[in-house]
Amino acid sequence: MANAFYSAEQKKLQATYREAAREHISPLVKEIDETDHVPQALVKKLVQPPFSLPALSVPKKFGGLELDKVSIGIITEEIGYACPALIPFLEIGQLYVHVILLGGTADQQKRFLTRIAAGEIGCYALTDEGPGSDPAGMKCVAKADGNSFVVNGIKRLITFADMSDLFAVFANEDPALGPKGISAFIVEKDTPGLKLTKHCAAMGLKGHRAYNLAFENMRVPADNRIGKTGDGLRLALKVLSKTRISLAFGYVGLARAAFEAAVSFVKEREVAGKKLAEKQAIQFSLAELATRIDAARLLAYRAAVMSHQTDQHFKETSMAKFYAGDTLIAAVDLANRIYGGYGSDVDFPVERYLRDAYTWIAAQGTNEIQKLIISREILK
Ligand SMILES: Cc1cc2nc3c(=O)[nH]c(=O)nc-3n(C[C@H](O)[C@H](O)[C@H](O)COP(=O)(O)OP(=O)(O)OC[C@H]3O[C@@H](n4cnc5c(N)ncnc54)[C@H](O)[C@@H]3O)c2cc1C
Repeated sequence: MANAFYSAEQKKLQATYREAAREHISPLVKEIDETDHVPQALVKKLVQPPFSLPALSVPKKFGGLELDKVSIGIITEEIGYACPALIPFLEIGQLYVHVILLGGTADQQKRFLTRIAAGEIGCYALTDEGPGSDPAGMKCVAKADGNSFVVNGIKRLITFADMSDLFAVFANEDPALGPKGISAFIVEKDTPGLKLTKHCAAMGLKGHRAYNLAFENMRVPADNRIGKTGDGLRLALKVLSKTRISLAFGYVGLARAAFEAAVSFVKEREVAGKKLAEKQAIQFSLAELATRIDAARLLAYRAAVMSHQTDQHFKETSMAKFYAGDTLIAAVDLANRIYGGYGSDVDFPVERYLRDAYTWIAAQGTNEIQKLIISREILK
């Protein structure tokens, strides 16, 4: 286990969040899955103590926890294990927070991050009406007009748009400049012209809610632009190279849940007079999966450590996200096959793991996009 690399403090953090997840989250998982709704009392616990998920990477001077990336990864693995639909409280918080941390002025950091540390929620609106894999070609426009920008366009699959107080929005100031015209803006939730047009109902990750948005002549103050004209795309990619790391840890968490479910099942289930656990085909499949899960965690751990040393860890982050994603799909697939007919039975957890994994896998860029980034880096 990667535990061997964790400090005493990180192991303590892991135990604390594991216990908190067992106490506050696990009893509600079935209800969240069935109702597609996270009870408000739990939301409060997730955004404030004992979890404080959106504030994990907010600097202490703004009231946050300022945890290192490995610690955040450890927490993400525990939430992914317990209920991956709740990961966005952490992941979307990270996306939003990093836009401001990496691109904002001191004043913007103070204005917006103190609010996140106090329990407000921020979302990240990058994916456009065009292909999400190619944000450079986004169609959303932000036209300068006096001391503000007028934003028009459509965004898709924006997680937590319904409950966010603040939106990080990417739009092109001058489409003639192509990707060099893209900028980032912070938008307040009640801004006129900001509309939620569709709830994107999904087969899994129930409770995690994503929406399509329309911006219709939405006016944003000029001092809510993060960075200069054209800084937006580079910023978006830099942010993703930080936050995909915790997503990889989250995938490891759900893969671990599927693996553990498979292990307990094979120890109990007897077929033709023998426990499934005694059959070598099963043993070898589980041995391979256990190895992959540990390898995925180690890749995520490496990217997390590197992200504190340099900004040039695109390859390592994408390796971690791609490998953890592939491992997750392998884990939920194996668990379902091992459960046989019970695999699709709603009284057993593995059918949810399968739905959750397939719903989750494209978030923050598909596996193909991670391979594209890796190959660009190794061939440059
Ligand atoms: C659960 C969930 C939550 C999300 N939350 C957010 C959010 O909060 N904010 C946000 O901005 N976005 C969000 N997204 C959107 C997500 O980032 C996009 O779905 C993702 O980037 C893929 O974009 P797409 O769906 O348009 O697929 P497409 O870009 O249309 O891709 C379709 C297929 O083509 C493949 N493909 C594309 N380009 C290439 C290439 N060059 N080479 C090989 N194959 C390629 C892809 O891998 C994929 O298999 C979320 C998505 C999900 C599933």
